[in-house]
Amino acid sequence: MKKIGFIGLGNMGLPMSRSLLLSNYTVYGMDLNEEAEMSFHQSGGTIGVSVENMVKQCDVILTSLPSANAVEEVFLGEKGLVYLVESGVMLIDTSTVAPDLNVRIEVAAKKKDVDFLAAPVSGGVIGAVNRTLTFMVGGAKPVFDKALPLFNAMGENIFHVNDRIDSGTNTKLINNLLIGFYTAGVSEALHLAKNSNLDLERLFEMLNVSYGQSRIYERNYKSFIANDNYEPGFSLELLRKDLRFALGLAEKNGVELPLSKILFDLYEEAIKDGYGEKDMSILYKKISEHSTN
Ligand code: NAD
Repeated sequence: MKKIGFIGLGNMGLPMSRSLLLSNYTVYGMDLNEEAEMSFHQSGGTIGVSVENMVKQCDVILTSLPSANAVEEVFLGEKGLVYLVESGVMLIDTSTVAPDLNVRIEVAAKKKDVDFLAAPVSGGVIGAVNRTLTFMVGGAKPVFDKALPLFNAMGENIFHVNDRIDSGTNTKLINNLLIGFYTAGVSEALHLAKNSNLDLERLFEMLNVSYGQSRIYERNYKSFIANDNYEPGFSLELLRKDLRFALGLAEKNGVELPLSKILFDLYEEAIKDGYGEKDMSILYKKISEHSTN
């Protein structure tokens, strides 16, 4: 497996594709955004190859796309990957989508005798840049084993969850449900601290060695809130997408999650207020700007 296609060169896909280049894979990249393609090209990647040619030249095609609609179009659309590829090419989606979309892609891929893995990631842009991502992979174990060198080139903690194609996605949705809670908790706690005569930097020093510590507190505070800079990162819109999928999973499995519903409404409201494209840590700003008496 030496030739890789990479579709979706955004905040995650660009550094992930660069990691593959650093591991000496030949990488053909594609994005709807010209600027993203140019950055990829400047890193040594090849652009300008159509999907039709990509599937002919590559052993594996990876995707990192922003929405279930984009994944649906790229895999199952009129010129979808599953219809263009020949048996022997492997498809790996690293986006976070609804679990039932993983299943639909797997069904279509199986009809073509094409291997497919649903491999969502955690660790953010920093993890993608530093090659320390966590992969949560669902799909057949022999296919996972074949893809392992690729995952190792991009990440540090690589998990095969189980043979069910949606098992990685279900794991990832639980992870992001927690991220949603942590981000909301950090936002309200810091808002209270700021209005209680506490210095946020000093607070971080103390809580970082107390049980109030969390990786999300560290990430949201140190990389965004402390600098008053909310360029993503992981956009609030993407987190809302994942919370919606998590609620969908709960509904499908007949599980009541009353707090998660309140949480989802909070993110919905933040998006209505225009914060959707900013990093999720901007929830702190929304809460502090909209809830002081
Ligand atoms: P992004 O919006 O920064 O990047 C997505 C890229 O896909 C964009 O450059 C866009 O132009 C491109 N694109 C959209 N539709 C396309 C199409 N049909 N063909 C080709 N390119 C297309 O999003 P991101 O932050 O990189 O996230 C990508 C995926 O990874 C999402 O599913 C997200 O949930 C997941 N994820 C993101 C993070 C994070 O911290 N950003 C962390 C873990 C997982």
